[in-house]
Amino acid sequence: MRDKGGVLMIIERTTLSVETKSAQELIDVTAKIEDFIKKTGIKKGQVTVFVLHTTAGITINENADPDVEKDIVFGLDKSLPDRPEFEHGEGNSHAHIKSSVIGPDLTVLIDNGKMRLGTWQGLYFCEFDGPRNRKLDVQIIGE
Ligand code: ZN
Repeated sequence: MRDKGGVLMIIERTTLSVETKSAQELIDVTAKIEDFIKKTGIKKGQVTVFVLHTTAGITINENADPDVEKDIVFGLDKSLPDRPEFEHGEGNSHAHIKSSVIGPDLTVLIDNGKMRLGTWQGLYFCEFDGPRNRKLDVQIIGE
């Protein structure tokens, strides 16, 4: 694909595995995504990540203090707890709700072969019904 200036646009895609260890946790996947960007050689563009599950999500938040991850899990669980009134037979409605609140996808710009993130920002895979082996699609469009 070429844009108006005749620059060759490259599209690269992969599916990353994320093995979660707890019922609910945030896992920093920033390095995995940066590794894939590096492999493609794309220097400028954007990366989209998409979670292929209905009881997980992806978000960006602070990756300096690990207590932030724990507090996000704690806060979401206190705000959106499991409830006896839920009707879904699988018994994991709280996880489906958290998945919809957090969302399944993110897009980040790429400059100089790296994601344009703020100093304290990292990408977190959010598990709400683990432990499980999860899949995360990553697609990069750029040059
Ligand atoms: Zn379910």
